[in-house]
Amino acid sequence: MSNYLQSHLQELWNTTLQNISASGHFDPAVFNTWIKDSTLFDISDEFAVIQVPYKVNKQIMMDSIEFIQQQLSAVLEQPISCQILLKNEIEGIQTSGVVKQRNDTLLDDKIKMEYTFDNFIVGKNNREAQAAALSCCYYPGKFNNPLFIFGNSGLGKTHLLHAIGNYVKHNKPEEKVLYIYSEDFVTLLIEAMKNKTVEEVKDRISEVDYLLIDDIQRLTQSTSQEIFFNLYNRLVSNNKQIVITSDIHPRELKGIENRLISRFSSGLSVSIGSPEFETSKAILHKKMEGREESIRIDDDVLDFIATKFSSDVRKLEGALNELFFKAILYNPARIDLTFASEIFKEDPLIKKDEEITVKKIKKCVCDFYGLTKQQIESKSRTANIANARHIAIYLCRKHLEMPFAKIGAEFGNRDHSTVMSSYDKMLKMLKEKETFRQALKKIEQQLGVHK
Ligand code: ADP
Ligand code: MG
Repeated sequence: MSNYLQSHLQELWNTTLQNISASGHFDPAVFNTWIKDSTLFDISDEFAVIQVPYKVNKQIMMDSIEFIQQQLSAVLEQPISCQILLKNEIEGIQTSGVVKQRNDTLLDDKIKMEYTFDNFIVGKNNREAQAAALSCCYYPGKFNNPLFIFGNSGLGKTHLLHAIGNYVKHNKPEEKVLYIYSEDFVTLLIEAMKNKTVEEVKDRISEVDYLLIDDIQRLTQSTSQEIFFNLYNRLVSNNKQIVITSDIHPRELKGIENRLISRFSSGLSVSIGSPEFETSKAILHKKMEGREESIRIDDDVLDFIATKFSSDVRKLEGALNELFFKAILYNPARIDLTFASEIFKEDPLIKKDEEITVKKIKKCVCDFYGLTKQQIESKSRTANIANARHIAIYLCRKHLEMPFAKIGAEFGNRDHSTVMSSYDKMLKMLKEKETFRQALKKIEQQLGVHK
């Protein structure tokens, strides 16, 4: 605990809140609904903990965290960094004593408590990734080292990394776990180079039991790759678990040295795709927990959101938040489909009669298979990538009546005959296999062309 008395903390925070309100940074309705009810829980060294009642308050305050920090720093007349936490999160920290360890800038606790295995909804799209992530918790460094999780943005990769971090923190408190975003890793090393502390940083990182490195596609700086390679070898040879995420398959990574790519491919690579309808709905229900009492949402509204936004869970969550936000603002008797469609009518995902383009076809196919645009344009022959490419080529021909050569130019400069054989293959598969017919139907529905 700090040296501040409770009443003093309250006074400091009241002044900060008055300044925040007067600044006009937040709309008065936003301030009164989500900011006003926060309290200053504690201040220790350069670090303040602000307590908020609900997750939505936290999300809104986190969005303006820098501004809030500035305001509190101005009142305290010293720079301070703020952490916004829910009551139960603070209780968690108090029992594990994490607040006190926060002066360690390297192993500074970047693990977000709100992302756990418990609140990660498992569906067909992410079952393998979730199971693999869990296996790293039970059998670290044994089977899947490194574990490489890849998939489009917003599908839960970062959530799974934090879930591993939280699992280890709670179940194996003696083990060290480091979560680091690739770009932060680069910054950390650049700082260390300036301060001539690279060896120290390397030693510290190689002491961890789990290294969770997020969005490795951003590790494009060559010196950092060199250091990472070195650390990687040290950790793996000591049977320490490494988990990596990326938006593309290791083989497709650009700007990353081959020796690293071959290391990444040597463990287990699992993909994570877009959730299906039922999973999307379960995610929505999970994200609504604790908020249901305040606002009632009709079930068909949830169906509507789950159908329209399932290609990206972040957007799915965003749509739900938008609904809550507008509901507080307009205070309707209940949130029904009329209210929801009015809110989302400007959203590009909802607009009808849009013209079909190659870009849109690629997007719908990628979303359906949980792949990236680069993957379907690549030369990869991996079955799901090749199938997705065949379908995209088929759709370009069917709906845009494009010449094969022109389609080829859109798909990694393939020649006319390769594209034609891809198209023929698709025709054959559609005749023979129900799964392809179903996939095509769903993608065409997404494109708005399936009757
Ligand atoms: P990525 O790292 O793949 O871009 P994130 O892990 O940041 O995606 O996920 C985006 C948001 O969606 C987060 O708020 C996360 O909690 C949520 N999310 C994604 N998948 C799930 C899931 N299966 N269950 C619950 N929440 C999920
Ligand atoms: Mg992420």
